[in-house]
Amino acid sequence: MNQTRDAHPPPRAPSSSREAEPDTPPCPRCHDAGFLTRAGPRHAEAVVCRHLANCRVCRGTGRHVHRDSAGHDVLAPCPCGLAEIAARVQLYNRAGIPPRFHDSRLSAFRVHHRSQAAARSHFERIRNGFQAGAKGVGLFGPPGVGKTHLLTGVAGWMTLTRGVEVRYADFSGLIAEIKRGFDQGLGEARVIEPVARVPVLMIDELGKGRGSDWERGVIDQIVSQRYNAGLSTFFATNYRANPGQATRGLASELELEESLRARLGVRVWSRLQEMCTLMEIDGPDARAEHTDRAATGRHQAPRGLRPVPPRPR
Ligand SMILES: [Zn+2]
Ligand SMILES: [Zn+2]
Repeated sequence: MNQTRDAHPPPRAPSSSREAEPDTPPCPRCHDAGFLTRAGPRHAEAVVCRHLANCRVCRGTGRHVHRDSAGHDVLAPCPCGLAEIAARVQLYNRAGIPPRFHDSRLSAFRVHHRSQAAARSHFERIRNGFQAGAKGVGLFGPPGVGKTHLLTGVAGWMTLTRGVEVRYADFSGLIAEIKRGFDQGLGEARVIEPVARVPVLMIDELGKGRGSDWERGVIDQIVSQRYNAGLSTFFATNYRANPGQATRGLASELELEESLRARLGVRVWSRLQEMCTLMEIDGPDARAEHTDRAATGRHQAPRGLRPVPPRPR
């Protein structure tokens, strides 16, 4: 598995015990962030750095007895910030970020196209001034242009640095999870509400799936509730915004029809347009960079399979 490493700038809110001991060198493991992230078996995971267990004030409990102005001993959070960091680590671990995006950072987002530069700047502005209920972003673009990197970069920052509750999910996985919940006899309150009410929801690969009426009903319900409650919603999709919108190399009539509006229905689409700033990203497919196709200009099919030419862009 991937090695644990530091992923995000140190949180600002909890004051570090090291501020009180300026001569202490920074922790070599977490650089004083207080946490590390790693690729877990199912999701990206964060852990509290073990240097906090050695805190001389709270001895790794996060709380200490403090004498207030009236001379009473009260239990208070330790200035090392452990209690707060532990809470944020839990938020990160519940966010559902895919394992390989555990170290996504906006600063590491590689720009090859002006639309990628514009998207990165927009996400940096969100990162620097995010308030609950702020407008989200809808990212349109082909695979491999960094849509998931941008979403997970902000999701990691929101949970670990700002303590905001975020839920990231890819659309097919979310639909499958909701279906499983209903199949198990769980009610809407257990199945839909946690997704509909989370302060920040990020849906990747929106529209992907069978596109059944049931799926449309589920996404309609989630988006409607979030719209009415004024909650921040982000999404990314490989589909086009509108039918007939030819951004690059359209191959078939079917693709012309495969717009997000057609996949989700007019009502959901109309709400998403109000809830999100819509942005198109283009650029080379980063996932293809290391493949034979990129090296030779040809797609190498495994033996016995017919080679598939790369999709025109
Ligand atoms: Zn550390
Ligand atoms: Zn402490």
